[in-house]
Amino acid sequence: MRPARALIDLQALRHNYRFARELSGAKALAVVKADAYGHGAVRCALALESEADGFAVACIEEALALRAAGIKAPVLLLEGFFEANELPLIIEHDLWCVVHSLWQVEAIERAQLHKPLTVWLKLDTGMHRVGLHPKDYQPGYQRLLASGKVARIVLMSHFARADELDADATENQLAVFEEARQGLVAECSLRNSPALLGWPQVPSDWVRPGIMLYGATPFEVPQAQADHLQPVMTLQSRVISVRELPAGEPVGYGAKFVGQRPTRVGVVAMGYADGYPRHAPTGTPVMVAGKRSHLIGRVSMDMLCIDLTEVPGADIGSPVELWGKQILASDVALQAETIPYEMFCNLKRVPLDYQGE
Ligand SMILES: *Cc1c(COP(=O)(O)O)cnc(C)c1O
Repeated sequence: MRPARALIDLQALRHNYRFARELSGAKALAVVKADAYGHGAVRCALALESEADGFAVACIEEALALRAAGIKAPVLLLEGFFEANELPLIIEHDLWCVVHSLWQVEAIERAQLHKPLTVWLKLDTGMHRVGLHPKDYQPGYQRLLASGKVARIVLMSHFARADELDADATENQLAVFEEARQGLVAECSLRNSPALLGWPQVPSDWVRPGIMLYGATPFEVPQAQADHLQPVMTLQSRVISVRELPAGEPVGYGAKFVGQRPTRVGVVAMGYADGYPRHAPTGTPVMVAGKRSHLIGRVSMDMLCIDLTEVPGADIGSPVELWGKQILASDVALQAETIPYEMFCNLKRVPLDYQGE
């Protein structure tokens, strides 16, 4: 059997969830959209279900998969509904629904609903993606209440630059939020992972941790709170071939690496078809046989090459960690000019093995 695997440590997931709740002192929706950032939404939600205040997903399809697996906790649709005909299903399955645009307010006003909705009313505080314009926020809120179709409204917004700890943008967005919600007596939710970890002054009755649940830092710089996270996914494989090359010989497609010295090359069963980033360059860290080494040459579809020159103990069959508890996904991401979010979501073909049920 091909040795490429992603181990998913559910104990670490629970640790990170508890940490999110303790650090924020708030209720926490575990964000399990996009198949729990590639970690498997149903398995992750089941592992958290006994303690989670709720879950958040992108769309009703993802929510129904959780309900079909028996998840009873609240589930929030982060993009709300895409078409008004989803509203009866949202009610039937007891889902919570973001309202981010006026057309959704109108659709709710027109809908025939036999039970009231729970709405998270999103304000655009400066990200300028979705969310009501500040001038529409209080009118939108009042219209939802007046419609008689909404039982409860949580006030929410989303930060564009909370991962930049020295930027003013987060404070500016918060100021827009505070102004727009003046006089409304309702719970609020602002903090995603970087805001939860890095912006303790931001209020939030509900936090929405995503990437931090999976144990990856959202920051590009060291951050004290992020050090408490435990990586959940270990992407691993094995060395399947070893060769000794004299100095001057190239390795891999495009001859992107040419050894300056005699080089012992290990070939690992892992490639971009598994979701390993193709743009990870020579020098990207890996662990092999318990020692730190690095990639050489281009990542190919099913294989990649690593330097075994300084790891004489490594041979065919030696275990390789591409990322996990020793090689942080965030460090690989920096090298490959991407983010752990994308690396996790890109994972495919590799079987997931769950531990720590
Ligand atoms: C995805 C998402 C989150 C989670 O973000 P992280 O940075 O992964 O913590 C929170 N809120 C909203 C609205 C989202 O879309």
